Amino acid sequence: MLAHPLDEFTRDPRIAYFSMEIALRNQIPTYSGGLGVLAGDAVRSAADLELPMVAVSLVSRAGYFRQEIDAQGRQVEHSDTWDPALWATPLNAKIAVAIEGREVWIRGWLYILSGHMNGRVPVILLDTDLDENHSEDRKITHYLYGGDVTYRLCQEIVLGMGGVRMLHALGFNIRQYHMNEGHSALLTLDLLRRYAYAPEELRAGESPYDVLQVRELCNFTTHTPVEAGHDKFAYDLVRRTLGDFVDVATLKALAGTEVLNMTCLALNLSDYVNGVAKRHAEVSEKLYPGYRVHAITNGVHPFTWTHASFAALYDVHLPGWCHESGILVRADSIPDAAIWQAHVQAKDHLMQKVKILSGVALDPTVPVLGFARRMTAYKRPDLLFSDISRLKSIAKKQPFQLILAGKAHPHDEGGKRLIEDIHKHMRELSGAVRIVFLPNYDLEIAMAMTAGVDIWLNTPLRPLEASGTSGMKAAFNGVPSLSVLDGWWIEGCIEGITGWSIGNAADSPNGGDADALYEKLDHVILPLYYNDNPGWVAVMKGAICKNASFFNSHRMMRRYATEAYLR
Ligand SMILES: *Cc1c(COP(=O)(O)O)cnc(C)c1O
Repeated sequence: MLAHPLDEFTRDPRIAYFSMEIALRNQIPTYSGGLGVLAGDAVRSAADLELPMVAVSLVSRAGYFRQEIDAQGRQVEHSDTWDPALWATPLNAKIAVAIEGREVWIRGWLYILSGHMNGRVPVILLDTDLDENHSEDRKITHYLYGGDVTYRLCQEIVLGMGGVRMLHALGFNIRQYHMNEGHSALLTLDLLRRYAYAPEELRAGESPYDVLQVRELCNFTTHTPVEAGHDKFAYDLVRRTLGDFVDVATLKALAGTEVLNMTCLALNLSDYVNGVAKRHAEVSEKLYPGYRVHAITNGVHPFTWTHASFAALYDVHLPGWCHESGILVRADSIPDAAIWQAHVQAKDHLMQKVKILSGVALDPTVPVLGFARRMTAYKRPDLLFSDISRLKSIAKKQPFQLILAGKAHPHDEGGKRLIEDIHKHMRELSGAVRIVFLPNYDLEIAMAMTAGVDIWLNTPLRPLEASGTSGMKAAFNGVPSLSVLDGWWIEGCIEGITGWSIGNAADSPNGGDADALYEKLDHVILPLYYNDNPGWVAVMKGAICKNASFFNSHRMMRRYATEAYLR
């Protein structure tokens, strides 16, 4: 008999990692931004560390969207359809969930994520596009973060409840569940039903479910203090869609009395809850009084986010860095000239890419600031453009260039306006500062930018940046950050050693940030770049030694393993 493709993965118990989005590779558009890239890096590290894990996500056949920028500088959205058969293997098991009283059938695709070393982690991508489903139901797993609130609830039923049933049908033995954000929290309802008491065991007035048993199995990571990031569903809608899968009294006790709040549900049914940086855990404990929120600061996957020129250097000087990235603390032993040369290569590679994508030729001798992330109000991509004449006068004395990228969610009107505004400012600055906006920010552009710029800029509104990870990618390539003290940067910034802060203590007002940004650029950063190359390389080394050695996903996953999964 032929071995089943899952045999090697179903022998021993595993951790099930659930995420609405996951960045597996650039050709697979099942991610929108930081949350999906983090999920991908978590699973890549699990593979490298050979942690017994299985990941579950949606197949998102139409992707998130492909971004184009029109002549007026406005975002145009195209669907980003991919063919799962090119990258994944269809699995035979088929299960159903009940949605509005209909059976919706689900199948899985197996994508095997191979680590940089020996390990492999199976990723199950759930798909409802099956002949036996009603035409509307076939689209449930098409559009990542698309559609209306009903569509989102259907997706979350498929992800959470469908995911648990699929793992069971495929023969996985799950020792712990990890909900990466609240989208998958309906998995707890399926577990409640699984751990229901028999009627004769029940005493009047008691919950029919073994809530403690479910809590022991579940872990929850919250990712944002921004209100819109937490899904909430009206109980009318929930009743219409889910029926009385779990009775309303129990649901309201666990998920909130007014609306079904996915964060609330996940908090109440997880024994281990964490935020993604120290400050974010503190902010989350204030948001959800009465819950203990641990802190596991995010990290990025070492091999994925290190440019080939730096990887070659680390291989020679710090062998083993891909498995035990803590050894990068010794990167200061690498000769300055070799560090600078590796950077020149990464910068050259970026400039070639910019030329191909935009036709613009940047000057390799002029410093480049990079800013790329989701375009949305709290990230303040317009902060740098607060005073155009001041920017012009800074650039006149000490020229600098700028590369920007980022998508706005199709429903985020404010975010889309920011993209338009940026393009207006680019026209105002033409002739004074060379600026490029690269359309369709993705893993490949993120890789080229975080490695090839000279300074990585981040200007969120405190305290809304839960962690941020792109500055960590930059650190692996010796690129220092210039950032507001929020998220991970509160832990990562040592002024003038690993990069630079914008503004003061994290709880001071955000008002003077633009001024602080201009001051630092004009009086500290550009003079250092132009007048003191050894001093500049020392900061590059500081970013590698002190930040890449720590803010990596191997350290992050070892902490999840010892503190959450083995608790
Ligand atoms: C790393 C990454 C992000 C997240 O960046 P933040 O700094 O956390 O906002 C978003 N999109 C892509 C494509 C990335 O690679």
